[in-house]
Amino acid sequence: MHQTHKAIGILGGTFDPIHLGHLRMAIELYEALDLAKVHLTPTFKPMYRKQPIASPAARLAMLKCAIKSEPALVADDREIRRKGITYTIDTLIEMRKEMPDIPLCLLVGIDAFLGFASWHRFQEILNHAHIIIAHRPHYHLPRDGMIADLIHAKQQKDIAYIHENMSGGILLRPITALEISATDIRKQIAMGRNPRYLLPDGVYDYINQHGIYTVR
Ligand code: ATP
Repeated sequence: MHQTHKAIGILGGTFDPIHLGHLRMAIELYEALDLAKVHLTPTFKPMYRKQPIASPAARLAMLKCAIKSEPALVADDREIRRKGITYTIDTLIEMRKEMPDIPLCLLVGIDAFLGFASWHRFQEILNHAHIIIAHRPHYHLPRDGMIADLIHAKQQKDIAYIHENMSGGILLRPITALEISATDIRKQIAMGRNPRYLLPDGVYDYINQHGIYTVR
């Protein structure tokens, strides 16, 4: 089925805090895949990992601060407004209802995709979106097993596929390798070190003003 609308990207994360690794991933995939926009969706309460240190409101404020002069990126607070445990499938179903004729692309780093089989209702995700897997330093996709089989069955090489189909394809994409993690930034701040230049200045200023991440 030929679509008339360009696909949009969705990059979910705890963003605790948002950093240049997330932002380069969003902007590079926006350009490389010719997306209409990339929605960054901060998780309210992640199911499968340690709970965030900063509040949902603070993580959203940092995100808004990070992207305020970049029209390609959208701060999408639907998971925070929805409350409860955040499941990606719920976000995709909600977005599909709002945008019935726009292809959706879930953007994930390899590290996040490695846990795909444990996601809530993971078998349904590709019914609602494409999955774009971005390379990340030190992480590799398995050569066999469920994840390897899924990629083998669904992988597309041509980016036209994601604009011409509403969902169902998997693309693997290189991005600039930036070895930055929110965990490391939080540790640096707790140790009194200076994480400037790993994250946008405005986000760093927000962290300082609000005294976030100072306790280990
Ligand atoms: P934490 O260290 O707290 O686990 P994180 O820095 O890995 O956090 P998340 O908010 O958990 O960030 O990640 C959201 C998404 O961004 C995931 O898909 C993850 O793979 C991706 N991501 C995070 N950091 C990078 C990076 N440096 N380069 C590319 N992708 C990244």
